[in-house]
Amino acid sequence: MLSTKQKYILQEIDGSDKSNWTNWKWQMKHCVKSVEQMEKLLGMNLPERVRKPFKEVTEKFPMSITPYYLSLMDCNDIENDPVFKQSYPLINELEILDSDMRDPLHEDADSPVDGVTHRYPDRALLLISNMCAMYCRHCTRKRRVGDQDNIPNREQISKGIEYIKNTPEIRDVLLSGGDPFLLSDDYLDWILTELEKISHVEIVRIGTRTPVVLPQRITEELVDMLKKHHPVWINTHFNHPREITQSSRTALKKLADAGIPLGNQSVLLSGVNDCPRIMKALVHKLVANRVRPYYMYQCDLSEGLNHFRTPVGKGIEIMESLIGHTTGFCVPTYVIDAPGGGGKIPVMPHYLISWSTNKVILRNYEGVITTYKEPNSYEPTFCDRNCDKCDLQLSLDNNTDDIKSIGIQKLLSDHEDAISLIPTDNARHDRRGDDSSD
Ligand SMILES: *Cc1c(COP(=O)(O)O)cnc(C)c1O
Repeated sequence: MLSTKQKYILQEIDGSDKSNWTNWKWQMKHCVKSVEQMEKLLGMNLPERVRKPFKEVTEKFPMSITPYYLSLMDCNDIENDPVFKQSYPLINELEILDSDMRDPLHEDADSPVDGVTHRYPDRALLLISNMCAMYCRHCTRKRRVGDQDNIPNREQISKGIEYIKNTPEIRDVLLSGGDPFLLSDDYLDWILTELEKISHVEIVRIGTRTPVVLPQRITEELVDMLKKHHPVWINTHFNHPREITQSSRTALKKLADAGIPLGNQSVLLSGVNDCPRIMKALVHKLVANRVRPYYMYQCDLSEGLNHFRTPVGKGIEIMESLIGHTTGFCVPTYVIDAPGGGGKIPVMPHYLISWSTNKVILRNYEGVITTYKEPNSYEPTFCDRNCDKCDLQLSLDNNTDDIKSIGIQKLLSDHEDAISLIPTDNARHDRRGDDSSD
């Protein structure tokens, strides 16, 4: 069952081949943190140019690689290996540009209590673990990696849960970190139980990279616990088809068989997956394992990620190569997480190329240009958001749905009188001294 390389690594660590390999705690205990250990386990010397800066880089951004993930590296071309590139610290991480930011997504600023980021109206992020099995070199929360002082304890998590309890508009809670699956089953069970008691929380989502870097973590006991707390959704983080191994497949199968809908969030990374063919192979392998590609992220502006960034055009080119060319549900949404806390913004190739009063002009994935004739008569209904009086039958058991619109939605609605959205620092508006802008 183990590959030759895995047997070799096991032998080097344990001096035996008794199969600790499948024990996730053993994997965690033997995470590779030094370049010497890495060379020993790979049975090779790394090229001097990547070996030399190791200490300097890891003082700022530490390394940790599970023996399992290490075993996926291809030693014949290690410097181009996608597994190596995602896990080994390179000197490029110390290049900080003026445009880089410690916390580009303003997660700290949008945090009503420690460990909670509440950015969108109906959902909130709860950071429950600061541990990771493997430290992704492209981590957007790099500033916190290995930050021992920041381990959220039961008391802090309780405060986060308390905030959710007191905020009835939150219907979706995302557990993230760190990796939530590095917590024990019992501890996770406690968090999920507490969330379940909150009647307005409709779903819980867990973001984890363990199916990729530590598939041994997905045990029968874990999935038996998770399925008591349905609806639980899981998003994982595969970036390259090479990461979908037999062990990962087994882990994904256990989760899917437990009735957990699985999604995948990839990050577009220069030198790893910035290629339409690689991305297509990845999404095909994902859906074959019942994982729905969810997001493809443009790489964030966090410090130390400059060498991973691609132009947005690369992402558009990949989207162009997927939409229409493959199964609709193989296609992720390409998003840029806006610096400054603006949230995820979807970007797409353009398909609507022109329109007049009764026709729209579209182009398809093949480049065929076509028309869609719009209806001759469409009676727009004035919507005052009084759903009781409307012919469209929106019958809700509990009519708690808020009727407040924000953003562009507000400009489009009939019942609001806003006609423009104006930035708070608009000088022209300041001169007028009025505040009719909202
Ligand atoms: C990504 C994210 C979410 C979830 O966004 P979805 O588009 O619903 O997946 C929620 N809160 C924060 C802070 C996020 O970054």
